[in-house]
Amino acid sequence: MIVERLYSFCRFGNQSVSRHQANVNVSSQSVSRRQVWDWLMSKPHWLLSVMLVWLMGSSATIGLNVVTVTDDFASIARVVGGEHVTVKSLVSGSHNLHAIYPRPSMVVAVKRADLIIRIGMDQDSWIDSLIQVAKNKRVLVGTPGQLDCSDGIHALDVPTSHHGGRLGDVHKEGNPHYWLDPRDGQRIAQQIRDRLTELDPDNGSQYQANCDQFCQQLSDDYRRWAAQLAALKSVQWVTYHTVWSYFFEAFGLTNAGQLEPYPGISPTTRHISALTTRLKSNPRPTRVIIANFYPYSVAESFAKSVNTTAVQLPTNVGDDGVTTYRGLFDTIIRKLSL
Ligand SMILES: [Zn+2]
Repeated sequence: MIVERLYSFCRFGNQSVSRHQANVNVSSQSVSRRQVWDWLMSKPHWLLSVMLVWLMGSSATIGLNVVTVTDDFASIARVVGGEHVTVKSLVSGSHNLHAIYPRPSMVVAVKRADLIIRIGMDQDSWIDSLIQVAKNKRVLVGTPGQLDCSDGIHALDVPTSHHGGRLGDVHKEGNPHYWLDPRDGQRIAQQIRDRLTELDPDNGSQYQANCDQFCQQLSDDYRRWAAQLAALKSVQWVTYHTVWSYFFEAFGLTNAGQLEPYPGISPTTRHISALTTRLKSNPRPTRVIIANFYPYSVAESFAKSVNTTAVQLPTNVGDDGVTTYRGLFDTIIRKLSL
């Protein structure tokens, strides 16, 4: 059906086809489906996205349209929502969430959303501009269509002064990487359950059952992961950025410091020197971990200077072969245990 609509559209817009494919004899009678497809594939990605949505119009989707910022939240929303939701993530895989630049395809997703699930804590303020551009009143701040999951989280690293703002600290509202504590994964699921139930009360009992099952599985996983990491409690862990604060707290691991002097500020010679001195004065073993999107060479060089190794880790679903929220922890902990 979509192909038919594309075909009809191209017949209607054959002047545009001719203009962009001068070597093809295109007329309203002669244009073929293959030519339509080739022409569409030659367009910039954003134009294709907008066109496809326009052509599909109000084509039916399954249940509520849920849009999340990352694949982690999308994974949880799919489990809780089950067959009653269609979930799309705006950002796929591990990325520096402090440097996301909105794309036109994101506007399309936001325009169709019944529910937007945000990380919050000033990490995804760019979504506000997307909502304005999309003119989707269903997902404005304060409506049931917008859920900020940080509202249900005990935030770490909340600044006690605003020194960071002047220095470029990217955690002015506290540390936003809370999905890396599986207990917060349960809290995220429960918030999603409540919001889906508010938007779709007829299926509330299903959301409840899905959430209960997911939280029970995470509880079982948490005990297993904690046992796997118990042997690493003597390590003083160094990271590039404070991505791992919630992970460390969840499993009782020691956060010995970051290569960044402040979140988002590149390492300085003075800071690295002081950190090195502090680590070497402690007899406990040191290990360095770094998220996949930060410069591994910096972590590797520092690790060598303190006679240890550095390991790269995914921080989000969609990276490193990780397809589910629970799988993310399996991968992280397996790599830490090597
Ligand atoms: Zn951060």
